[in-house]
Amino acid sequence: MNNGTMQPKCMKCGRTLTYDEIGCHKKMINRGATEFFCLTCLAEHIHVTEDRLRERIEHFRKTGCLLFQ
Ligand SMILES: [Zn+2]
Repeated sequence: MNNGTMQPKCMKCGRTLTYDEIGCHKKMINRGATEFFCLTCLAEHIHVTEDRLRERIEHFRKTGCLLFQ
């Protein structure tokens, strides 16, 4: 389990995650996740491009999803 006070990091490469990356992981993988992938590792994991994920994030943001800033 992650320590809730710490900045979450990618479970694969260890990069510090942004709010959007966490939101994207929740949307694409599991809403209740407690460990996350960064955009690069998530794209690899679900076999899409990072650009495609960024488009998805923009779409979610425009539709007012609270998982995105
Ligand atoms: Zn990563």
